[in-house]
Amino acid sequence: MHPLTIIGTGLAGYTVARELRKLDPHCYLRLITADDGHLYSKPMLSNAFFYNKTPEMLITTPVEQMAEQLQAEILTHTFVTQLEPQWHRFQANEQSLNYSQLVLACGAKPILTPCTGTAMGKILSINSLSDYRLLRTALQTAKQVTIIGSGLIGCEFANDLQAGGFSVTVVSEATYPLNRLVPALVGQLLQQLLQERGVTWLFGKTIKHITQTTSAKYQLVLSDNQVIETDIVISAIGLRPQIELATAAGLTVKEGIVVNRYLQTNVLDIYALGDCAQIEGLVLLYVMPLMNAARALAKTLAGQTTAVTYPAMPIVVKTPACPIVISPPPNTVKGQWHIETQGQDIRGLFYTTTQQLAGFVLTGKIITEKMTWLKQLPPFLSTA
Ligand SMILES: Cc1cc2nc3c(=O)[nH]c(=O)nc-3n(C[C@H](O)[C@H](O)[C@H](O)COP(=O)(O)OP(=O)(O)OC[C@H]3O[C@@H](n4cnc5c(N)ncnc54)[C@H](O)[C@@H]3O)c2cc1C
Repeated sequence: MHPLTIIGTGLAGYTVARELRKLDPHCYLRLITADDGHLYSKPMLSNAFFYNKTPEMLITTPVEQMAEQLQAEILTHTFVTQLEPQWHRFQANEQSLNYSQLVLACGAKPILTPCTGTAMGKILSINSLSDYRLLRTALQTAKQVTIIGSGLIGCEFANDLQAGGFSVTVVSEATYPLNRLVPALVGQLLQQLLQERGVTWLFGKTIKHITQTTSAKYQLVLSDNQVIETDIVISAIGLRPQIELATAAGLTVKEGIVVNRYLQTNVLDIYALGDCAQIEGLVLLYVMPLMNAARALAKTLAGQTTAVTYPAMPIVVKTPACPIVISPPPNTVKGQWHIETQGQDIRGLFYTTTQQLAGFVLTGKIITEKMTWLKQLPPFLSTA
C-alpha cells in the first residue's frame, strides 16, 4: 500500500494533515518538504524583528513532534523534481516514491524585482524561516534598509524595521501604500503615520540598477535616475504560486494550479491548496482561505466529498503605527467605497451597484467594529 502524500509542510500541508488525522486516525500518511519541516507561523516573519524574535523562537512545533502528533512520516530536505501521475509516482532526491493520493501544498515564491546590475543577487525576499534568518544576519551590521514594494508585506516590514531602529525607505511604483486593497485615503493615512515615524516613501518609481559600493553598501538607480545608497534591499513586490512541477506533469495551470471546488486538479488523485493553488479562479495568498480549503480537502480525502466555501475573510494589517483591518471586496464585484473619517479612524464600506455591502476597511480605534461588519458580509465563495 502506498501513502497518501502531501508535498509541502507549510500551513497548508500541515493543516490538511491535522484535519485528516481527526477524521482518519489510521491512514498511511507521508509529508515531503524541501525545508527542515518545522512548523512556524509565516505571518509573523514581517513583525518579528521588533519583538526580537529569533527564527528558532518562531518555530511553534519542531518537525519530530509534528511527525509524532500526525502519526506521519515526514521527509525533510527532500526536493521533489518531477511528478509522474501515470504511475502514481514522483521523483525526489533521486528516489522514486509512490503515492495513493497526492496533495500539492508547495506554496508560492517571491517575484524577483526586475532590474540589472552586479548586486541583483543580493536583494533579499522574505518568504521562509531561512529567509528571515538571512535577513537578521544582514541587519546586524545595517542602518539603512530599502524596501521595494508598498503592499501588505512591504508596509509591515517598513513598520517593523523602523520600530526596530532602522532608517527605512520604501520604493514603490504605486502612488500610495496598499493601493490594491484599500481606498487612497486609508493608504495615505498609513503613509503619513509611518512618515511621521521616519519612513521615507518614494512613490511612482522602481529600481532599475543595483551595484555594491566599496563600502559594502548598495547603490540603487531608480527609474527616474535618482540614486540612493542603502545597507540592505528587501524586495516585497509580490509572490507567484509554484506551478513548475504541475506544469511539467501536464496538470492544468493558469496563475496557480487549477483546482475545482473539491480541490481536485484535472489529474486523478492529485489535489492542490494553499499559495500554489487557484481555486475557482481565485489565487488568495492568505491563511484563512487555506484553512477553509484544508478542512474541506481533509473530508474529501477521508471519503466525504466536500466542496470548499469561503466566508468573508478579513485581513489584519500588522502595522501598529496605523492599525488596519480589511475585508476586500471580490475583484469581480463592481461598486464604490463610502468613507467616513474622524481623525485617524476611517470606516470605508464598499457597496455594490445594488447597494449590497461587499467589503470594508477600518482603521485606528474603530477596528473593534470588525465583527459587526463581518456579520453583514456575504460569503466570499458560497456553496455551488
Ligand atoms: C512575510 C509574510 C507575512 C504574511 N502575513 C500574513 C498575514 O498577516 N495574514 C495572512 O493571512 N497571510 C499572511 N501571509 C501569507 C501566508 O503566510 C501564506 O499564505 C501561507 O503561509 C502559505 O502557506 P503554504 O503552506 O501554502 O505555503 P508555504 O508556507 O510556502 O509552504 C510551502 C511548502 O512546500 C515545500 N515545497 C515547495 N516546493 C517543493 C518541492 N519541489 N519539493 C518539496 N517541497 C517543496 C516547501 O518546502 C514548504 O514546506 C504572509 C506571508 C509572508 C511571506
